[in-house]
Amino acid sequence: NEAAVSMGEDVKPPPLAGTNVMNIILVAAECAPWSKTGGLGDVAGALPKALARRGHRVMVVAPRYGNYAEAQETGVRKKYKVDGQDMEVTYFQAYIDGVDFVFIDSHMFRHIEKNIYGGNRMDILKRMVLFCKAAIEVPWHVPCGGVCYGDGNLVFIANDWHTALLPVYLKAYYRDNGLMQYTRSALVIHNIAHQGRGPVEDFSYTGLPEHYLDLFKLYDPVGGEHFNIFAAGLKTADRVVTVSHGYAWELKTSEGGWGLHQIINENDWKLRGIVNGIDVKDWNPELDIYLESDGYVNYSLETLHTGKPQCKAALQKELGLPIREDVPLIGFIGRLDHQKGVDLIAEAVPWMVGQDVQLVMLGTGRNDLEQMLRQFESQHHDKIRGWVGFSVKMAHRITAGADILLMPSRFEPCGLNQLYAMNYGTIPVVHAVGGLRDTVQPFDPYNESGLGWTFDRAEANRLIHALGNCLLTYRQYKQSWEGLQRRGMMQDLSWDHAAQNYEEVLVAAKYQW
Ligand code: ADP
Repeated sequence: NEAAVSMGEDVKPPPLAGTNVMNIILVAAECAPWSKTGGLGDVAGALPKALARRGHRVMVVAPRYGNYAEAQETGVRKKYKVDGQDMEVTYFQAYIDGVDFVFIDSHMFRHIEKNIYGGNRMDILKRMVLFCKAAIEVPWHVPCGGVCYGDGNLVFIANDWHTALLPVYLKAYYRDNGLMQYTRSALVIHNIAHQGRGPVEDFSYTGLPEHYLDLFKLYDPVGGEHFNIFAAGLKTADRVVTVSHGYAWELKTSEGGWGLHQIINENDWKLRGIVNGIDVKDWNPELDIYLESDGYVNYSLETLHTGKPQCKAALQKELGLPIREDVPLIGFIGRLDHQKGVDLIAEAVPWMVGQDVQLVMLGTGRNDLEQMLRQFESQHHDKIRGWVGFSVKMAHRITAGADILLMPSRFEPCGLNQLYAMNYGTIPVVHAVGGLRDTVQPFDPYNESGLGWTFDRAEANRLIHALGNCLLTYRQYKQSWEGLQRRGMMQDLSWDHAAQNYEEVLVAAKYQW
């Protein structure tokens, strides 16, 4: 750099990491393994560790929904105003894998461990207001390893609408008053479908000065004029990240932006797509703790031949399905709702049961869809299992034991299950949308390339067509199948690459390129 300056060239951006070590605080409503309803929890648990490995000082702030054994009470108590009332919070802390985890305890977060987004709109809003207010002051009040982070060289990563108030508070309460002048914020969009919408009167709960109201006001044909937290966060954050390139593109379209596309287009300059990684310690067939018992076995690329069939047999046994190596075993894991396209699988079931296949579906969600899973199981007991529940153990075992993973999501910001599947030699069949399109290159039999099968419209006949081709390859072209498995398993799906990209975004925010 010095040389560049003395030669009269433009000053280059400083090199990453090393000289750019930052204090990074990721704030999220859920964090695995303590709290998780979906991909956000996985990201909050894993990305910070990868950033810490790059040399940054990294903290995660999440609500304390339960008694987490690892986290100690710090003795720090603070009060924040929510809806005119003083709310007391206590901060808990743990240091794990190079990351400071800070949990915010309040009676508002207790007893909702089983349903962290439950309650009426007002309850949820007040919870998030308290959470964001309490999180933003962690760097001042909560000592980690004896020393507070302070607000120098500090970057917040907020996630989804739940914490989209944080960038707004950073501006309104602090920067506008000469505080935290060099603190920056990035807001990550994991799912635009949930935005923190409400009537305009909801603004009063934020406690913000009146002139901030306009930031939150949004008009769309469905909701009319309304209050929208995500809108305000997107406008205020210094940078916006979303979890794949495909989704970044979709967010800018009227179908994909869910009413926020215009704001996203206006802020395109600060938007970047970064595909999620996976936690390669948790989701690794070689180390997976859920494969250590009940007939399952750990396996690797080298032992795929024997290990995966053994896991498949163990899964068939556990589910009470006929134990047969030759029958293709198809899995589905995910929230049971419209987004995940469960209804497309349902439409395809009559075709599927006409084939020699087995199908296992694991999920929770909409009552009617849970009911449907149970019904499939009872009607086609020799072929179908519908496991209604949230079971991390079963998710791992299905990922290992199945041959094929179905993901017919209508939209999918990134999608993690297809990544896990590929890491376990399980072949994804997906709707080519968002992160699924980014991560599952279609199989090309002529070049023996690609990672799975994709279909380009969320329709049952398209799914059947793709799955049909997949089954044909499974049955008749063993070598191609093995090639698909190997290519999937050989990818580097770790967080390291994504963490480097996040770092670039945060550095850019710091210097406001
Ligand atoms: P989303 O965040 O939209 O729910 P992702 O694919 O990004 O979807 O992440 C879903 C995560 O939740 C994955 O780790 C998946 O294994 C897990 N998951 C979803 N449903 C279940 C379930 N019923 N039991 C166990 N894990 C589940």
